[in-house]
Amino acid sequence: MAGIYIHIPFCAKRCIYCGFFSTVRQEEAARYVSTLCTELRQRKDYLQGLPVTTIYFGGGTPSRLSPEQIGKVIDEIRQIYSLDNLEELTIECNPDDITTDYVSALRALGVNRISMGVQTFSDDLLRFLGRRHTARQAIDAVQSCHDVGIHNISIDLMYGLPGQTPDIQRHDLETATTLNVQHISSYCLSYEEGSPLDRMRKENRIIPADDDTCAAMYETMCNHLRKAGFEHYEISNFSLPGFHSRHNSSYWDGTPYLGIGAGAHSYNGTSRQWNPNNLDAYLQGIEHNTPKYEIEHLSQTDIYNEKIMLSLRTAKGLNLSALPSQDRLLVLQSAETMLKKGLLVMENNHLSIPENQIFISDTIISSLFK
Ligand code: SF4
Repeated sequence: MAGIYIHIPFCAKRCIYCGFFSTVRQEEAARYVSTLCTELRQRKDYLQGLPVTTIYFGGGTPSRLSPEQIGKVIDEIRQIYSLDNLEELTIECNPDDITTDYVSALRALGVNRISMGVQTFSDDLLRFLGRRHTARQAIDAVQSCHDVGIHNISIDLMYGLPGQTPDIQRHDLETATTLNVQHISSYCLSYEEGSPLDRMRKENRIIPADDDTCAAMYETMCNHLRKAGFEHYEISNFSLPGFHSRHNSSYWDGTPYLGIGAGAHSYNGTSRQWNPNNLDAYLQGIEHNTPKYEIEHLSQTDIYNEKIMLSLRTAKGLNLSALPSQDRLLVLQSAETMLKKGLLVMENNHLSIPENQIFISDTIISSLFK
């Protein structure tokens, strides 16, 4: 099993909190698409014949590309790989890019999952965040996906926003769970160094939500989504039964993936490598067949720590039976006190973090590192 991630860095404008690599240089889109195809050919052996089960277009804003441009990349993938085992083809979209014609064209290309950056259903907060869409557009966009027969829809929500009262959060959750979406990813607002939002905080122009407020909002969200039938399968991810993200789950399972595009990361089981977070450096490197990338070869300690970090993010947890006996003993020793305190639980030989401790998961996970 393997995944392919395609990074599309274009955004119509930058949101004030954004810490992702993205650019507003949309005029480079056609050249970028050709370069993605070239990189796919240059790196056709990276996955060493593993069957491709997931493809994910992330960004940035992939829906800034036309269906023809997205189709060109998918065609290139089809020429290189057999897609007989493909389970999931996801495209991240912004709600204001979605029309019935647009998603219908995506569906014709084989797209079977849409992931939409909604963030909140409060128009005031959407404006504050610098998002381009309104709550109405997000609701209509979900409907357009259903209208054309895409019934695997994920939305992103945020909590911990300045001024996001309990009433606003309740409205966000209630709207989300009446929309007939199958998956919700939810993230606490973070203040990325150098972002306009971070500057506003440093200049005391906004009052950030404190840790207790964020923890209470997290709990509210978990309770609401559980009652609505969602499974909390990863720290930030909830799905109706059977609708977990196959592609993202492969990151947590340690499945190899090929990342194509500026800033994209790849993993093959023994190393991680990543392309430059710079459009020109990426384009020129691939065009001249002198790709610029950085690589980190993983030591046994890195592999052990990553396995702990990634698997404990999931409800399934860390499968102790799958570890070499020495590592299993080490994990059990480090986990002993936390198991007694209820910070970790053990079930069927799987070690996991109970939902009521997830807000301190970083501390729990790092205590288990070698
Ligand atoms: S749409 Fe996403 S990637 Fe683009 S600026 Fe906003 S948060 Fe960043």
